[in-house]
Amino acid sequence: MSFDKTKTDAEWRAELSPEQYRILREHGTEPAFTGEFWDNHEAGEYLCAACGEPLFESDTKFDSGTGWPSFYQALNADAVAEKHDVSHGMERVEALCRHCGSHLGHVFPDGPAPTGLRFCINSASLSFKKKQD
Ligand code: FE
Repeated sequence: MSFDKTKTDAEWRAELSPEQYRILREHGTEPAFTGEFWDNHEAGEYLCAACGEPLFESDTKFDSGTGWPSFYQALNADAVAEKHDVSHGMERVEALCRHCGSHLGHVFPDGPAPTGLRFCINSASLSFKKKQD
């Protein structure tokens, strides 16, 4: 898998907060119900916190009850990459930013219609751009 907005590890360390670095670049996870966006209901677009590319729209966000921002689909086919992940003794699908390769969260097959998917994403991996009226 190749990404068009990669940076060196030193650059990522300089640009991201320690918490963002841990999650985006070291595949970390924020504790449930602690992030900035799990309970955000405003209309707008969610961008990659590392590279700024748009990843998800608020229209596809739903309340999963998990304490992490959850979406039933990515913005488009070029937004999110999926990778088989067998770390931590679990078989999962990892969600990565298609542009910079940063870790976003995981994709589970228990989401709502129309896709049946649940993109379970760390708030720390996202920034939010509120829709202009
Ligand atoms: Fe990115």
